[in-house]
Amino acid sequence: MMEKENDITGKPVRYVKGVGPKIAALLNQKGLNTIEDLFYFLPNRYEDKRTIKNIEEIVEGEAVLVVAKVVSSRPVFYPRARRRAFEANVQDHTGSLTLRWFHVVLPYLRELFVKDNILLLSGRVTRFGKNLQIVHPEAVLLEDEDELEGLQKIIPVYPEIVGMKQGTIRRIIKQALNEYGKHLGSILPPALESSLGITLLREAISKIHHPDEDVIDKAMHQVHVKRLIFEEYLLFQISLQMKKRSVKKAEGIRFKCNGKHRANFEKGLSFKLTNAQRKVINEIEEDMGNKTPMNRLLQGDVGSGKTICAIAASCIAIDNGYQVAFMAPTEILAEQHYLTIHKFFDDMGIPMAYLRGNMGKERPPTIERIKTGHTLVVVGTHALLQGDIEFNNLGLVVIDEQHRFGVMQRKIMKQKGSWPDSLVMTATPIPRTLSMVVYGDLDVSVIDEMPAGRQKIWTKAFPDQEKNAVYKLVEDELRTGGQAFIVYPLVDESEKIELLNATNMAVLLQKTIFPDRKVGLLHGRMKADEKEKVMSLFKRKMIDVLVCTTVIEVGIDIPNATIIVIEHSERFGLSQLHQLRGRVGRGIKPSKCALITSEKKTAIAKQRLKVMEKTVDGFQIAEEDMRLRGPGEIFGLKQSGIPEFRLGNLVRDGDIMSMAKKTAEEILPKLSKDELDQIKGLVIRKWGDSLHLSDIA
Ligand code: ADP
Ligand code: MG
Repeated sequence: MMEKENDITGKPVRYVKGVGPKIAALLNQKGLNTIEDLFYFLPNRYEDKRTIKNIEEIVEGEAVLVVAKVVSSRPVFYPRARRRAFEANVQDHTGSLTLRWFHVVLPYLRELFVKDNILLLSGRVTRFGKNLQIVHPEAVLLEDEDELEGLQKIIPVYPEIVGMKQGTIRRIIKQALNEYGKHLGSILPPALESSLGITLLREAISKIHHPDEDVIDKAMHQVHVKRLIFEEYLLFQISLQMKKRSVKKAEGIRFKCNGKHRANFEKGLSFKLTNAQRKVINEIEEDMGNKTPMNRLLQGDVGSGKTICAIAASCIAIDNGYQVAFMAPTEILAEQHYLTIHKFFDDMGIPMAYLRGNMGKERPPTIERIKTGHTLVVVGTHALLQGDIEFNNLGLVVIDEQHRFGVMQRKIMKQKGSWPDSLVMTATPIPRTLSMVVYGDLDVSVIDEMPAGRQKIWTKAFPDQEKNAVYKLVEDELRTGGQAFIVYPLVDESEKIELLNATNMAVLLQKTIFPDRKVGLLHGRMKADEKEKVMSLFKRKMIDVLVCTTVIEVGIDIPNATIIVIEHSERFGLSQLHQLRGRVGRGIKPSKCALITSEKKTAIAKQRLKVMEKTVDGFQIAEEDMRLRGPGEIFGLKQSGIPEFRLGNLVRDGDIMSMAKKTAEEILPKLSKDELDQIKGLVIRKWGDSLHLSDIA
């Protein structure tokens, strides 16, 4: 563990000998502020100095490395070939050589190939007329001719820093390692670090900057880089484990799981639970029967039957004399939840309440019944646990988060009295790797199996010109008693245009394409009660075709809708397309999804549509989405408080993340309070308090 005064995470680069204000400013511009930053500024590649040749020795066809001085350089134009190029002549003490570039970035070359600059050049030798040349050599600027003498045999080549020569970067990093390398400590106590059987952090960093192998061993280099990524992931996972443990330490409720509602509920079902649902309910019962508060995430595709699991959990809470809160992100969804679960609880004679925004006179008595404990199940939006609502004895909180992450703060959940159990449901399946990051502090249950007899959703992409074929598909569905969604995207972020599209299209479709059908309109600018009216008309089949924007994305359940048409589908991300498609296929009839695409779709858009045609499996789609977009963009991860990792890339380094998670779970009990405090301090200095560690005792 590092001492405060030797804290390299906080120490500015100017503490390194030879780094004055000017160099410090250049380093800062590259984001290198502290000494630790310098250690983590890794070479792109290495040059093996032992293969440096004299110019007179080189022969055609060989890949060579030479050190030479610039004699002259100039842009040229070859009139016959009508090609622009750049040429430079260089020489060493044995001979001279011409270098050529075609179609190049001139300013960069002009700056590098200034007369008398000394360069380390590598590339393949070819013949040009009588002479030898290298086309497009790689060039590294050296301080001076002598610089090579002082260097190790294998020379690290760093990413470019504007205004700074490679030699200077190398010198500074070497100096930093000499002066401060000894303070480079793992977040792990030394004994633990060596007992894990991994390279010591200090050694890995030093070997990356100065490989001492006789040959440059790429595999070895990778091992060292992975060690650094592991360190970073481990720090992150230890933080999550600390958070998790702090919740586990809290005083929760020990529920008994053999009550009458729990038993009756299952008997009353008109279907058999899937194996996945059984497994999840078992996991929930284990949590609830335990004294530590449940802190579980339930992941499963739309329609996989998550709500049923939450109802089973509710029955347990009620059997034990506790109240349950069900929360959804929007009013429409809260109402839908209410309608779904009302059936169940009503049959069981369990008093329920639905807390809406504008209840008028009804609100005070409703709140009163919650306060006295008469009402056992309360449904509302996420606002339920804020403001004026007081529970008598809240035992379970069920949160339907859709795809927003971590919106609920634990603090809110700590009500008076005991800490309630919480079950967060999400319909956004996310890749396993990402799940370890986003939900690392929760226990995760997955429903990976659909109820039997669920219909496949036939999916096909159509170019714009074939729209009439799509309308015909819609008409076919309507004729057999189905209903249709036609979705327009949000264009250019500007809701005005969105409005224009959906509104105009609704009118146009009604007039020209579906004159004998009832076409409805739903968009984000409508007032809540207008929206509800339209949804209710659609539910009651008074509307056949609902033209809408993505407001229908979240959780709306219309079992009779059998086709969804998505206009400009190339503009949507994969997860969003998958969510939209999930609006159909919820009833007993087979359903269809038509993806209309414009001519101008990108390669990535094409791939997305292919994935959609190929599979309806949410987890598979999530994996593809992460691969296509990268983990940073996916699901608003940036807003979810997950830190940016210095070196790790979740798509590539998922296995390292699992290793870090396992290690963190193993070693957490072995760390002393002092050690944990130091780690906490380190996390906060490194990532700020985005992980909310500061309020953990
Ligand atoms: P989710 O919350 O995951 O979107 P729901 O729990 O709302 O899914 O279930 C979707 C529909 O499937 C509901 O109508 C529900 O009654 C039904 N359902 C749930 N589980 C099963 C099952 N095991 N077999 C058949 N139908 C089921
Ligand atoms: Mg419990």
